[in-house]
Amino acid sequence: MRSMSSLIHKLKTTHPDIAFVQGEEFLWSPSNRTIFYNPEAPQASLLLLHEFSHSVLDHHTYNRDVELIAMESAAWEHAATLAEKYAVRFNDDVVQDHLDTYREWLHARSLCPECTANGYQTTTNTYQCPACLHQWRVNEARICALRRYKVQTPTR
Ligand SMILES: [Zn+2]
Ligand SMILES: [Zn+2]
Repeated sequence: MRSMSSLIHKLKTTHPDIAFVQGEEFLWSPSNRTIFYNPEAPQASLLLLHEFSHSVLDHHTYNRDVELIAMESAAWEHAATLAEKYAVRFNDDVVQDHLDTYREWLHARSLCPECTANGYQTTTNTYQCPACLHQWRVNEARICALRRYKVQTPTR
């Protein structure tokens, strides 16, 4: 826990405009420029750097699901450089697991409910099927709100 608070302290010195609030989950809230974090979580420091990267990269909204995935990738790339800077151990499994969650989510919502062809997104909340022309609505996803984070605890 100690390393977590010292990490937050360091991040605050470079970005005093960002608030850090302890919570259940890791989340970047662009509207009130707040990062929620859970110091008890496995890989907490790395996840904190990921949320911090969303804030540094100024991630707000997106129009297409693919943009959301691009933002998640970008945030992890930035987190990798921060991990080096602040001597936080970088775990690529966590990153891949996180990105896979998004890819699976995108795949699932882009399948046409009528004929299971791969649809394309027409608006933030709508997909259309190129085969049967069926349209369907999808929920808006928040940055980082989908996560599986069943971080592999090494069995030793
Ligand atoms: Zn269809
Ligand atoms: Zn994220």
